[in-house]
Parts: sequence; C-alpha cells; structure tokens
Amino acid sequence: MIVALAGGVGGAKLAQGLYRVLPPDTLTVIVNTADDFELWGLHISPDLDTVMYTLAGLANPVTGWGVVDESWQALAMLRRYGYETWFQIGDRDLATHVARSDWLRQGASLTEVTQRFTRALGLRAQLLPMCDAPVRTLVDTPAGRFEFQEYFVRRQHRDAVRGIELRGIEQAQLTSPVRAALAAAQAVVICPSNPIVSIGPILAVSGMRAALHQTGAPVVAVSPIVGGKALRGPADRMLAGLGHEPSALGVARIYAGLIDGLVIDQADAEQRAAIEALGLRVLVTDAVMRDEEDRRRLAEETLAFARECAR
Ligand code: GDP
Ligand code: CA
Repeated sequence: MIVALAGGVGGAKLAQGLYRVLPPDTLTVIVNTADDFELWGLHISPDLDTVMYTLAGLANPVTGWGVVDESWQALAMLRRYGYETWFQIGDRDLATHVARSDWLRQGASLTEVTQRFTRALGLRAQLLPMCDAPVRTLVDTPAGRFEFQEYFVRRQHRDAVRGIELRGIEQAQLTSPVRAALAAAQAVVICPSNPIVSIGPILAVSGMRAALHQTGAPVVAVSPIVGGKALRGPADRMLAGLGHEPSALGVARIYAGLIDGLVIDQADAEQRAAIEALGLRVLVTDAVMRDEEDRRRLAEETLAFARECAR
C-alpha cells in the first residue's frame, strides 16, 4: 500500500499521478477535512471532493475544483431566492453534497460516506478523511477572524495571515482505516499541498505523527513551493506571515523530523545542501505538473525516490 497525504488542488494532481502509475487498490489518500463547512444545510468537504473528482476523471480541468461539464441552474435559482452565491456549487457537484449530508444525517461517518462515493464512482483507490470528528480552520487576519472558506473563497485569500486555529482538533482521533493504511504502508508521500492549512491539520490529528513514525516506511514530501512561490493560492504568503521562510528550505524545516526526503524543483537546486544539512535526502527534478504526463512522471520519480530513502 502507498499512502498519500493531500489537501485540494495541488495534492490531487500528484495523487492522480500516483493513481495512474500504481496497480489498482494499492493507493490510499488521506485527505484534509479542516476546510469542511456547512452551507445551505449541506456538509461540504472541498478537499475530499477535489481529490475524488480528480481521481475519478470528473474534475473540471480549468479550475482544478468542481466537476467537468457543469451546469449552474440550481445556483441561479438559489440566487433568485436571495442566497449569496460566492461559493460556487454546480448542479452535478450539488448532488455530492446532498447525498453526503443525507447519509451523515442518517448516522454514517464521513469515512463511510466517502467509501460509498468512491464505490459508486468505481474508484480503485481508498480515500480517507483525516478523521471523522469535525475540525474547522479559522484564519486570523488584520481584517478579523474568518472561517476558512470565507477567507479563501469569499475574500480570495487577500488578507495577511497572522494565525490559524484548528477548532476541534483536540477531539480528532485516527480512524481505524487510517491507522490500518499507515501500518500497511510501503511508502508515505506528502503531496504538494499547503503545509499550513492542508497538510498541517492532517499531521495535527492526535496519533498521526506517532503512526507515521511507527511505519517502517519511508516518508517523502513534494515541495509545494517552487522558486519561492506557491504555484497557486496563498501558501507562500501564509508561510511568510506565520514566520516561516517561503521556500523549499522553509518547507523542509517544517517537515524535518517527520520525513526522510524532499522532492524539490530545479529552480530550487541551490537549496539542496541546506536541506541535506537538516538530515534529509533531496531529489531535484521538474516538480511543476502542467499536464497529466507530468503528474505520472513526478509520481514515478517520487516513488523511486521513496524506495531509495528506504535503504
Ligand atoms: P487547495 O486545498 O486547493 O488550496 O490545495 P492544496 O493545499 O492541495 O494545494 C495548494 C498548493 O499546491 C499550493 O501551495 C501550490 O503551490 C501547490 N501546487 C499546485 N500545483 C503544483 C504543482 O504542479 N507542483 C507543485 N510542486 N506544487 C503545486
Ligand atoms: Ca483546501
């Protein structure tokens, strides 16, 4: 079993590469749920949905989130009823949220709900929410404290980030499928997702770090920061705002002690020695995934690198 940790769009790209190059039923993706929220009475899990749609070949290739070939009739009607529609939910996507909310209301766990979806979509990978307890990311900014989607989508992550709170994280426990996947892992890949608000919450679930230490498997990460910048989204500014260096080296410092190796882009090759000085192995390659071929190639290279780290 190969286990990947992922947030949304960036993580989903590498997860899809892994899914393509690995045999069926040998990939488990543990996904951030700290940016889940409630809207119109529905439970929305943006990162789980992004990973699920991407692996299922249903993702909108332009945005990276949402479903391909969407229509927006329900959203237009909700707007006529006076709802604010800054969080865009297409008609096909809406069905996911309706079913998830219905099943949760009937007493299913988020893990069970996700399993029903992946079965129905014919996915031959296991998707696991990082936990079943609700965790909510709150973002402190000079303009006030915002719920994550309000900060990210409504305000388009324009605010400086001064602090992050993961409300509910103390109650979050490892689920037995997450524990089992980590125990069976031959390698763990931390996808190029935001280290603070995508991977940070996963690692903060109680027992997660210990379970990662206990797997004898190599743990490698792919840097989401290339040339000092996030390829999309606010990860670079967020790192800087919270006192981290927005660079591959800064990412290495955050993950040091947890990972055996870091994959960085050629643009950051000069940071290799400094990262190795932290006790990490480094793979320098083209870490930017422009198309599906890039995703597969980076997945292959990352898996081969993990095998080297295991020695
Ligand atoms: P979100 O939940 O949709 O914001 O997504 P993630 O946290 O999973 O991903 C955001 C991160 O993905 C950003 O920091 C980007 O720099 C990173 N990212 C996006 N595309 C790529 C890529 O092709 N290569 C690498 N290395 N990072 C990427
Ligand atoms: Ca996210």
